[in-house]
Amino acid sequence: MQRIPIHDGLFTDAGALLGARCPDCERWHFPADADCPYCSGERCQTAALSDRGTLCLFTGVNNRPPGYLGEVPFGFGVVELPEGLRLIARLTEADPTKLRAGMAMRLVIVPLHVDDEGREVVSYAFAPDEVA
Ligand SMILES: [Zn+2]
Repeated sequence: MQRIPIHDGLFTDAGALLGARCPDCERWHFPADADCPYCSGERCQTAALSDRGTLCLFTGVNNRPPGYLGEVPFGFGVVELPEGLRLIARLTEADPTKLRAGMAMRLVIVPLHVDDEGREVVSYAFAPDEVA
């Protein structure tokens, strides 16, 4: 089945998240955009973001948000990447009792739904990266 990202420009060809870094203020942002959201610089360069991060805060979502076609329940939280960027993201773990602040997380590409043309629509999420 063909897989497509829920938004164009979300991933690199290798499956990393595509962010951008501003050469003026040296800050990263996501999703990638040539214009810097912090200093109005217009020379941001796109680049792959780290696929590992640290969980900052989290909750469990049990009710399907309007327009959301994926499965519930799911986890939802903020993951800080080594670039200093904090991403709001779905989490693969829906049970908040199994999550904790400071937990190591890794990027995963997850299916959301199948579109009208039979393509699997995918997005990103973070999964606990603890050694079992
Ligand atoms: Zn900037």
